[in-house]
Amino acid sequence: MGMKHYDVVVVGGGIHGAGVLQAAAAAGHSALLIEQRALASGTSSRSSKLIHGGLRYLESGQFSLVRESLRERAIHLKIAAELVALKPFFIPVYRDTRRRPWQLKLGLFLYALLGGFDASTRFGTVARRDWSSLDGIETRGLQAVVRYHDAQTDDALLTRAVVESALSLDADLAMPAGFTGAKLGEDGVTVTYVQGAETVECSARVLVNAAGPWAPSVAAAIRPAVSIPDVDLVQGTHIVLPFAVSAGIYYVESPMDGRAVFVMPWHGATLIGTTETPYSGAPDRVHPLPEEEEYLLAVGRHYFPAFRHATRQHITQRFAGLRVLPAANAAAFDRSRETIFSTDREAKPRVLGIFGGKLTGWRAAAAQVLDRISSSLPARPRRAATDQLILRRPP
Ligand SMILES: Cc1cc2nc3c(=O)[nH]c(=O)nc-3n(C[C@H](O)[C@H](O)[C@H](O)COP(=O)(O)OP(=O)(O)OC[C@H]3O[C@@H](n4cnc5c(N)ncnc54)[C@H](O)[C@@H]3O)c2cc1C
Repeated sequence: MGMKHYDVVVVGGGIHGAGVLQAAAAAGHSALLIEQRALASGTSSRSSKLIHGGLRYLESGQFSLVRESLRERAIHLKIAAELVALKPFFIPVYRDTRRRPWQLKLGLFLYALLGGFDASTRFGTVARRDWSSLDGIETRGLQAVVRYHDAQTDDALLTRAVVESALSLDADLAMPAGFTGAKLGEDGVTVTYVQGAETVECSARVLVNAAGPWAPSVAAAIRPAVSIPDVDLVQGTHIVLPFAVSAGIYYVESPMDGRAVFVMPWHGATLIGTTETPYSGAPDRVHPLPEEEEYLLAVGRHYFPAFRHATRQHITQRFAGLRVLPAANAAAFDRSRETIFSTDREAKPRVLGIFGGKLTGWRAAAAQVLDRISSSLPARPRRAATDQLILRRPP
């Protein structure tokens, strides 16, 4: 049997691999996605599940990231209305809260500006008489509650919906199938993966490494060797508690170190996250640490009397994911969340790697990937535009 040929082969069925598969198929290319376990089995089911502009990125001056994220948020609300919903966000300000109301309002004004003063960027404060509607939030020392909007999704469902969209445009999926190696030729790549008992070889013009925290090990299996950016892995944990908050998403400061933490309604319960713990083990082994759970419980207890007696025994679900951040000495919290792309060569790349990035930015990142590899791909008639393709909630 002859070797199958693709324009693009993508390794990794997280949101980035899904997005690149869809973008390639929409541009008219033949494309294959190889995923070792299940769609969104890695980071893309363990995020905070927000499609957001990233209010706090204003503090580190990442304005273009915020502008692009707000644009992507607006596109999601249009093309993925079954999967992404705008939610009220509340920031309670106490006497000892570090970020003061004027700072928050200045930030939200910038947020609205970067979002083109769209209706979804309106913000204000919750009147004191309405504080009682805020899930019993602690009111001792409370000075103001700032209110704005951002969007929430189900990250794993979104990933599956994007892959479904790609498959409907004739893309292929090999799953479960593990990428094991690639050989670079003059103008293409021979890719090897293992599916069941079979070792399969196919060829591609371009191999896209979208393996998230596994991307360095995928890159290491390419011959001749390709260089990739230095990255650090930083673990983030979430816990689910059986007491429900329902009014909206609370954006609070950890009483321990001032980091911003989300307290969110999630399937009739409450999701609290996240932490930032440097990680150096194998990506498969990441799991919530007891001290991370204690930290998140302490945040919940501090702000919500309903959680006052919550202990680790009450946790009904816990999960940890790995951020891929550019290697640096700065605290993880302050490091760039921009997507980093790297290629094996400047002209006509044969390999492109995606590192870092955000769930929110998957579509824009995928469009950039297609731009960067287009010189390596044959001209094909475009089938669709990804900012128009409607994403349906998978069954
Ligand atoms: C704690 C936390 C909270 C976050 N919260 C948000 C948020 O609220 N909003 C937001 O916009 N972003 C958020 N992010 C960022 C976002 O989750 C990630 O940027 C995104 O999920 C990364 O997706 P990915 O496709 O690059 O990687 P992954 O989802 O990890 O996908 C990589 C895939 O590659 C597969 N794979 C690995 N090796 C192989 C191989 N050899 N063969 C085949 N397949 C392989 C894995 O099985 C996996 O499915 C958060 C991240 C973390 C860690």
